[in-house]
Order: sequence, then structure tokens, then C-alpha cells
Amino acid sequence: MPDPDAVANTLPGALSAARRARDGAAVEGGEFDVVVVGGGVTGAGVALDAAARGLSVALLERADLAAGTSRWSSKLVHGGLRYLAHGELGLARESARERAVLMRTTAPHLVRPLAFLVPDAAGRDVSALAGLGGRLGDAVRLSVPGGRGSLPATRRVDGAEVARLVPAVRRGGGGVVFWDGQLADDARLVVALARTAAAFGARVLTGARVTGVDGAQVSVLLDGLEPVTLRAGAVVNATGVWAQQLSPRVRLAPSRGSHLVLPADRLGSPQAALTVPLPGSRSRYVFALPQPRGLVYLGITDEPVPGPVPDDDPVPGDGEIAQLLETVNRVLAAPLVPGDVVGAYAGLRPLVLPAGAGSGPGGATADLSRRHLLAWDGPVLTVTGGKLTTYRAMAEEAVDAVVERLGRGARRSPTARLPVVGAAPAVALSRVAAPARLVARYGTEAPAVAALGCEPVVEGRPETVGELRFAVLAEGARSVADLLDRRTRLGLVPAERERAVPVAEQVLADPR
Ligand SMILES: Cc1cc2nc3c(=O)[nH]c(=O)nc-3n(C[C@H](O)[C@H](O)[C@H](O)COP(=O)(O)OP(=O)(O)OC[C@H]3O[C@@H](n4cnc5c(N)ncnc54)[C@H](O)[C@@H]3O)c2cc1C
Repeated sequence: MPDPDAVANTLPGALSAARRARDGAAVEGGEFDVVVVGGGVTGAGVALDAAARGLSVALLERADLAAGTSRWSSKLVHGGLRYLAHGELGLARESARERAVLMRTTAPHLVRPLAFLVPDAAGRDVSALAGLGGRLGDAVRLSVPGGRGSLPATRRVDGAEVARLVPAVRRGGGGVVFWDGQLADDARLVVALARTAAAFGARVLTGARVTGVDGAQVSVLLDGLEPVTLRAGAVVNATGVWAQQLSPRVRLAPSRGSHLVLPADRLGSPQAALTVPLPGSRSRYVFALPQPRGLVYLGITDEPVPGPVPDDDPVPGDGEIAQLLETVNRVLAAPLVPGDVVGAYAGLRPLVLPAGAGSGPGGATADLSRRHLLAWDGPVLTVTGGKLTTYRAMAEEAVDAVVERLGRGARRSPTARLPVVGAAPAVALSRVAAPARLVARYGTEAPAVAALGCEPVVEGRPETVGELRFAVLAEGARSVADLLDRRTRLGLVPAERERAVPVAEQVLADPR
């Protein structure tokens, strides 16, 4: 095994224990151009944008990187088909543009093209409409920079192709296939963004809860114990669905989206995402999304969640589980049953209430726009809403506003041309000497991960002990949950998580 400390010292932006000690000391009583609150995709994106423009940055996250909504997404890099259905062309173009940036420049290793199958079994009118939507989406893709050649075109397929793509679909009839982007793992994108920000000099601290902002003074509770204060030129509130805690004037209508985790062989180990509309809807679909590790995630629901937002992880409701299974079963030869489900997860969308709306969404969060909000409240700029796909555009807009207010920092964001750590063009990735699964998660850093050990964490699963060691040495992991629920996603199947805990504890005690 290579010298583990060398791993931490040679990789750009490695979040090692030594770096954490330095960042902690710099934050206490320190002064920064920008303090970013929240280490989800939005906050990590803002920290990177600001640091890359030459501003001094502290990124403060109360729990762990990607502890919030950013790890509970469907892991899709959307071109915005759904926005087209709602007539929001601007939003669709922004999504298509950002998808191309992510796939080509920011993180080509983390995003792969994924086929979406809408079978005729869902209704000929349904597949015909999907074909139309897919072709409109293709036209939008071709109209944005980098879109041409990034994905195959929408097409009709015959019954044999349907059976090849998703063998579990009821026989008879063909279907329509359109294409979009799929992330290997949403949490890994967040970690890569935070590390890249760190490589540009940002101080990155997890376990750092911001408890208040008073003028330029930011109060922070470190690891739930130590109160410290720091000074900020501007504070960016990127706390997602919790944004109202720091900026009470922000008005959100959180909505829960749930996924079930199933063994891929229950759907015949699909090659495409099976796409079935919710009964009565023309723009909301249930997706069975194939994952690289022999699993399928079945999502997604949209349930308004009124009242204060709890800190704890949300869980899918019984009604949502039934809705997901019933919807997909409409097109399957053999129905899925609750006993097929090996895991489940849910996240809260930070949906922004439009100005002039009453106190709530009127029970229809599915119809709320996925536009983001950017609003100053004294020294605090809140940036929330939007999508994971458009995090970079949101971050750019937020930092434009900060630069304008501070009168410092580069006016133009460089992030559309900035790869994250581990990123490289597809040709270079194909030459990386490491297992393909590691390259798809760590890019050019995969050999460093492989060198730390290739033995599986849990027999029968592909995650390696080297990944756990790497997480501790270079990715700021500090607990079993950081290792199993965020740096790897072993925790998505509780039975596997249980078996992995002793190994994770051992690695935490001695990552060398
Ligand atoms: C079920 C579901 C599926 C989705 N699927 C997709 C998809 O496929 N594609 C897509 O593009 N988008 C998708 N989205 C949307 C996307 O996931 C979110 O828009 C995005 O992750 C929000 O990121 P964020 O950083 O703003 O919020 P979060 O990820 O929630 O980050 C906020 C962070 O702030 C921290 N925090 C809160 N309060 C404090 C404090 N006081 N001090 C310090 N830290 C604090 C939290 O711990 C958290 O880590 C989906 C959303 C849901 C719910």
C-alpha cells in the first residue's frame, strides 16, 4: 500500500485530518470575503465559484458534505423535458446547457448517457407523446453549446428492443426511447466540488452549524460543542430546504420525493430507465432507474410537506410506496411486490413559493416551478430551489451578486470551463489504469483509490475497503455514516449497511 499520508498530501484539495485542523484554526475568529452556509450541491458549487474568482471563502456544513437533499435525488442530470411540458422553455434550455457542461467539462467521469424507455404498454398515446417530447428535447439540446453529439436522438423501438432494454416489460408493442444524463452518485459530485473549492483555497468545515448572522458576525457551533465567531463580507445561505432558519423571509413549500431500492434482476437487469406516467398526468413519471451496482431505484413521488422542516432524514410514506409499485406494475409482466423492496429513501425539494402565493402551494407542489430563488436579506444572500443539474448556473448567479456587492473578485465565473478533481475528457478516462467502476466514481484518482485496497467491504458487493480509506484520508469522512451513507452508498440497503459497520469502524480507527 502507498504511504497513506502521501495520498492526502499529493491530491488537490484533499480534505485530510491535518487540513481540517488548519481550516478549523483559520475559521475561528477569521475574516472571509464569503461565508457559504450549507455543504450540499448548491453550497459546494458557490464555494467553488467564489474561490475560483479569487475570493476568500469558508464553507460551513452542520453535518457532512451532501448530508441534505443532495444525496436523495434521482441522480439524473436532466435536460428539462418536464419543463417543456410546462412551457418553460428558458428553464429547459438552461438545464440542457448545464447538462452539457457537466457531461463534457465539469465531471465527465460522473455522468453517463442513460436511455429512457416509454413502452407502448403504458398506452400508445403515452409513448406517442413521449416521442414528441423527446424530439422537442433533442431540438433544445442541439440549440445549446456542447449539446450536439452529447446524446443519441429520440427514436421508436420495436418489441425486441423493448425486451432487450427492460426485459420485465409486458410483451407486445414497441416503445419510444429518449436520452438524458445519469450521475454515478449525487453525493460524489458534492464531495468533488467541495474538494475542488478547497484546492482553490476555500476552508471547508463539516460539523459546523451556523446559528446566527449579526451584521458581519457569523456565529458557528463546531461539532455541537464549541461556539466560534467569524467575520464575513457576505454570507451565502445555501441551506436548501432549511433556508428559512437563516432567512425567515424566504418562502418555501417543501415537497417530499421518495424512491424504493430493488434488486435489478427483479426487472430483468434493465439497460434503460423504465418510464411510466402517473395515472392522469402527462408530465409526471415514475422511473425505474438502473444503477451500476445491481440495483434499481424506483421513484419518484411529490408530496407536499407542510410545517417546520425537521433535521432528521425524511422517510417515504406507505401511500408513496404503494403509488410507485402500482404505477410501474401497469406495464410489467410480473408485478413487483413490497417484499421485493430492499431499501427506500426520501428527500425534500426546496421548492420556492411564487411571489403573491398564499401561505402554501394549495396542495400541488408538483405544479410549482423548479426555478431557483436569489434574494438578499441584509448581508445574507439566500440561494435555494432549482435542481441539482443547474447548481453551477445558480452558483454563478449568486457569486455575481456577491462580487457586485463586495466590489472584489473576478466578474466572470470560470466554472463552465473548470473540471472538478478527478475529471478528464472521455478519452483520457478510458486510459486510466483502474477498475471501470472506480473510474466512474473517482475519475483520474481511481488508481490512488485502488492502491489503498481492493478487498470488498461486504462480500458480494463491489465497494472496496480502499474507498473507505480514501474517504477518511482525502474526503473529510469522520464517521461511519459519512463512510456508508455519503462517500459510498452502501447504506441504501440497510441489510448491507449493517454488515459494513464493523469494517467502517475499523477504517475510521486506523485508515492506514
Ligand atoms: C427526491 C428528489 C429527487 C430529485 N432528483 C433530482 C434529479 O434527478 N436531478 C436534479 O437535477 N435534481 C433533482 N432533485 C433536486 C435536487 O436534489 C435539489 O435541488 C438539490 O440537491 C438541492 O441542493 P442544496 O444544496 O440546495 O440543498 P441540500 O443538499 O439540502 O444542502 C443544504 C445543506 O445545508 C446544511 N445546513 C442546513 N442548515 C445549516 C446550518 N444552519 N449551518 C450549516 N449547514 C446547514 C444541510 O445539512 C445540508 O447539507 C431532486 C430532489 C428530490 C427531493
